Amino acid sequence: MGKLDGYKVDLKGMATDTVSYRWQADNDFFSAVQGSDIKQGLLDVALRVKRTSGAYELEFQLQGEVEVTCDRCLESMNQPVDAFCTLRVVMGEDFVDDGDVVVIPEREGIINVAWNIYEFAALQIPLRHVHPDCEALSESSEEERVDPRWAELKKLINSKQ
Ligand SMILES: [Zn+2]
Repeated sequence: MGKLDGYKVDLKGMATDTVSYRWQADNDFFSAVQGSDIKQGLLDVALRVKRTSGAYELEFQLQGEVEVTCDRCLESMNQPVDAFCTLRVVMGEDFVDDGDVVVIPEREGIINVAWNIYEFAALQIPLRHVHPDCEALSESSEEERVDPRWAELKKLINSKQ
């Protein structure tokens, strides 16, 4: 059994129109998924699957923390995650994932949502992520970079007087 087999959701075999799942995506999950942005973390994941005519609406609730690398010092930092994400799944011939809609082969009727959970978590990471201390550090160094120009300008103004 693969490490991520527990994230399989049997859509075809749904006995009722709504089914709920719960997982705890921990360090083992992130190492098994092998994503590049998040190596470690701990997320409570709740999934509600709603069967509608011809499609399945998957609603994910992600809560917890993931570990990312600080842009500035390259040390690890915790990024809180609290997100609600949805995915639409339909049955078809072959597997297709275009981001918004996933087509899964009807003969199998099963989707493994491990990668989707990873992607939803990765989407929560802001483009720029730095420790608060590192942010303060980079702000003060930016001021220093600006200061010499002001000094030059002042000199220029003074010389014209
Ligand atoms: Zn840092």
